[in-house]
Amino acid sequence: MAQKKDKTKEIKVPKVPHSKCDTAKENKTGSWRDQRPSIDLSKCIKCAQCALHCPDGAIEVDETGAHINYDYCKGCLICERICPVKCITHKKEEK
Ligand code: SF4
Ligand code: SF4
Repeated sequence: MAQKKDKTKEIKVPKVPHSKCDTAKENKTGSWRDQRPSIDLSKCIKCAQCALHCPDGAIEVDETGAHINYDYCKGCLICERICPVKCITHKKEEK
């Protein structure tokens, strides 16, 4: 019987871009933020869960990890709650 191929080795990091939606571009929700998330890239496993759940498309994931576009991040902290390795933390936004 033929051996099954290990498909987990074929998984590539998905490239999830910042929002390209025109209405989102016009509505920079970053000014609403009173909590500022930040990502510890040394712990990020590039799973893209944060980007997929961010309501404002404010997170981009590339080969180096996840990056937040603070023009659009409104500080809801869904990303922090969803991150499986807890590499997103936050502090109060300084205005
Ligand atoms: S805090 Fe909310 S808006 Fe900001 S990056 Fe995380 S999920 Fe997106
Ligand atoms: S959810 Fe966490 S581990 Fe996954 S890409 Fe985002 S910051 Fe990295």
